[in-house]
Amino acid sequence: SWGSLSDKPVYDWSSEEEEPDGRARPIQVLLVKDDHTFELDEAALSRILLSAEVRDREVVAISVAGAFRKGKSFLMDFMLRYMYNHASEGWLGVADEPLTGFSWRGGSERETTGIQIWSEVFLVDKPDGTKAAVLLMDTQGTFDSQSTLRDSATVFALSTMISSMQVYNISQNVQEDDLQHLQLFTEYGRLAMEETFLKPFQSMIFLVRDWSFPYEFPYGQEGGMNFLEKRLKISENQHEELQNVRKHIHSCFTNISCFLMPHPGLKVATNPNFDGRIKEIDGEFINNLKVLLPWLLSPENIDVKEINGSKITCRGLLEYFKAYIKIYQG
Ligand code: GDP
Ligand code: MG
Repeated sequence: SWGSLSDKPVYDWSSEEEEPDGRARPIQVLLVKDDHTFELDEAALSRILLSAEVRDREVVAISVAGAFRKGKSFLMDFMLRYMYNHASEGWLGVADEPLTGFSWRGGSERETTGIQIWSEVFLVDKPDGTKAAVLLMDTQGTFDSQSTLRDSATVFALSTMISSMQVYNISQNVQEDDLQHLQLFTEYGRLAMEETFLKPFQSMIFLVRDWSFPYEFPYGQEGGMNFLEKRLKISENQHEELQNVRKHIHSCFTNISCFLMPHPGLKVATNPNFDGRIKEIDGEFINNLKVLLPWLLSPENIDVKEINGSKITCRGLLEYFKAYIKIYQG
């Protein structure tokens, strides 16, 4: 059921026809088709992960996952801005610069379930003197019917297995079905992995968008942690099912954290002509972006991908990607 998007040999480096202007862009490396089969663009993935500058570097794989139309691409464009400006003081840029990156092709395009990777891998100097390669992934699902839920679970599982930091982008609150989905996704992933004494996955970051109870739990990381602790708490008088979801999530991830983001304002949410310029975004949102991005992506905070306790390079990640995908081929 798996095919390749292109008939070109895997190690064809002439990418002219794919990137005519030579500019970086999102590349659909995994696609779920209408008949629920998966397509991996191994050639594109190889081009990205095996380029000479990055292939032997330890890799930090950051995935943002969740349903459509919840502001993932919008957030990822800020990630790009942070990375392109080398985590500098003024990374956010000027007030009337349109936002570009993952969203520039968006809008009218058909929504696809799958994984997109930014074609440029960023090299970052870590405080310990090593250089890490940072890969950004956009993982999308539909979650709206039984069959699409299964597709989404597979895609989410794969992205969780591949990434070292999984950002679970959810709207307004952490609902019981968000947790149930997460259990389903990670169960899919865990079944596919070898038995190990270590927790199978690394960092899980709940990112709650449009949080509207700051008087209960303030925006940001600390409010997020307190909120999540309460949501993930296991108590005797809880239904067994609720307890199990929570135990499962705790058992899967080495780090679990949460960040509460405010609503970005009506221009962002409703104006079809909004192009991402900062001056049209609510100040509170911007203030929290200034905290969120370094918290996620600063050189001291990024986690190198580890599998069974060993650090993985881009070249290694490509092999795991292919191996994991074979598991779902059946
Ligand atoms: P994606 O499908 O999850 O990648 O969502 P997009 O990033 O394409 O955003 C979908 C719509 O939501 C766009 O109109 C954005 O301007 C808007 N948007 C982006 N961030 C937020 C947010 O934090 N809250 C709300 N309410 N809307 C947002
Ligand atoms: Mg998107």
